[in-house]
Amino acid sequence: MFECYNRRLLRINLSDRTHSVEPLDDDFIRDYVGGMGFGTQLLTTEVPATADPLGPQNKLFVCVGPLTGTLAPLFAQTCIVMKSPLTSGIINTYAGGHLGVAIKQSGYDVIAIEGVASDLVYVTITPDGVRIVDCPELRGKTAREAEAAVKAATGRDDLHTMAIGLAGENKVRYASLSSETRAFGRGGAGAVFGSKNLKAIGVAGIEDVRVADPPAFEAAVAAIYRTLRDDMARPWSLLAGFSNVGTGVGMQLVNEKSALATRNHQLTHFEGASRIDGAAYRENFPTRPVACFGCLVHCGMLHKASTRFGELWTRGPEYETMYSLGSLCFNDDPEALMKANLQCEDHGMDTLSAGVNIAFAMECAERGIIPADLGDGVKLEFGNADAIIRLLEMIAHRQGIGEVLAEGTRRAAQVWDQGAEEFALQVKGTEFAAWMPQRMRGIALTFATSNRGACHKRAPIGLEISGQIPMDQIEGRAALVKDIQDKVNAIFTLVSCRFAEFAVPLEQFVDLLNAAAGTDWTAERFLWMGERLWNMERLYNLAAGISGEEDRLPERCFEVPADFPADQKPLTREDFNALLQDYYRLRGWNEHGVPTAERLKMLEL
Ligand code: SF4
Repeated sequence: MFECYNRRLLRINLSDRTHSVEPLDDDFIRDYVGGMGFGTQLLTTEVPATADPLGPQNKLFVCVGPLTGTLAPLFAQTCIVMKSPLTSGIINTYAGGHLGVAIKQSGYDVIAIEGVASDLVYVTITPDGVRIVDCPELRGKTAREAEAAVKAATGRDDLHTMAIGLAGENKVRYASLSSETRAFGRGGAGAVFGSKNLKAIGVAGIEDVRVADPPAFEAAVAAIYRTLRDDMARPWSLLAGFSNVGTGVGMQLVNEKSALATRNHQLTHFEGASRIDGAAYRENFPTRPVACFGCLVHCGMLHKASTRFGELWTRGPEYETMYSLGSLCFNDDPEALMKANLQCEDHGMDTLSAGVNIAFAMECAERGIIPADLGDGVKLEFGNADAIIRLLEMIAHRQGIGEVLAEGTRRAAQVWDQGAEEFALQVKGTEFAAWMPQRMRGIALTFATSNRGACHKRAPIGLEISGQIPMDQIEGRAALVKDIQDKVNAIFTLVSCRFAEFAVPLEQFVDLLNAAAGTDWTAERFLWMGERLWNMERLYNLAAGISGEEDRLPERCFEVPADFPADQKPLTREDFNALLQDYYRLRGWNEHGVPTAERLKMLEL
């Protein structure tokens, strides 16, 4: 049993520059499966809930899963679990590409990073061993430059990397971690790297990846290919759209549905959307699709162009960036958006949090809460692309108001006060993803209750936007949100791409797992495991001081946007409170959002 695992954890201590290998026992593997399951158990066991996320007690658990490196498509992601500098709670964050396969082939299922290096270092893990290397010459370098330098130093073209840029070094709370053309965006993994004086990690491996039952596994892989191909042949397939133009394919539809967050959520519709959506980039800029390891969807779009900012090449912008640095800031300039996307890639910043912070600052300036002058004649105002580009630099360097915004919207609103908290678009400290709680009840509840803060990874977005269920319907929405949270948690133990769940039923994930690992999971038990993990995260967050009081939305979500469609119902407090209590009841939590003893017993916690 467990043939598809390496059954080994590599622990690297940066303080004393040592490393050790620990076995992963059967019970641990059986109970937590992999990916976020492994990371959640390790973090909640090893890192005190009250630890400072940017202090020496925090750890990073870099995890792969049982299907990583196998023939199964859409299982190329890597999961990092840590305490988030934005929320101070637990977070799991993901990047695709090729790093996960390299980790699996290196002979480990988890790399645990702990301690703090005395000076800036990078780490390499190769068949030649584990090395911790001083790298003062990489200070201030972009993530892309750092990754190239680490690859060059090892001389291995099979080395796959992750690195921080300036934002991570400066501990911008939403600093990301770049991994070649992908990124661990949400939650501040780059800041945690920076707090540990860790610039980059490179991994190469040559170990085989085995499965328990090869014929059964081949059949399960063939079945999942059929499912994906059938889905992609449908006229309105989201995956087919991703394959053709990238994740920005749906922007026009969202706009038509008056659900495109615009001008810091003051509007639901953006006239300039057609200039910055996926189709516009595909048509107007040289484009090359890129895939994560073994993926037939290849949703990543590399764009290269001569622009007024010079020659640019970058992956994306992704849909979420078209919102955050586009419609939210009232920016319809595709070249400037590409430049801003590249700035975030180079400095290593989550484009979502960065854009929400900038839109927030624009509204603060509009209301006279902060000065609008950014220097050199650049005015901080909606629609000014130059202000976005200037402010991204100021945040990465922590200069001027960038010093305040580097702390995130929640903390910035506390500093600037004067009612700014009401339109600071965050929950638990994490900035809003690209969806409107005012329009979509599932999003309202998901943003409020997600263990990661205002996160869209576990939301019924497709069902609401496609019209399969009315966006403003309350009935049944809490059950739907709970189900998708549990289901996505379960498949994240396999470190599945989030998009797989758009087409693949839970039973097929379980078939793959059982054939690869020799286990006998049922879909029902697998879903139970997802719920169990959700509750483990919740208990940890409660212990970290994040109470049910933080399951709430900012005031802006209860204001009616000027262009709100007349035939739709805006979100009211009464609706939201009813949704939340319904959700607590379904979760088996009390009215304050605390899991009951009965539910914890059912979940074997
Ligand atoms: S769908 Fe996109 S993000 Fe997901 S595995 Fe494929 S290329 Fe990677």
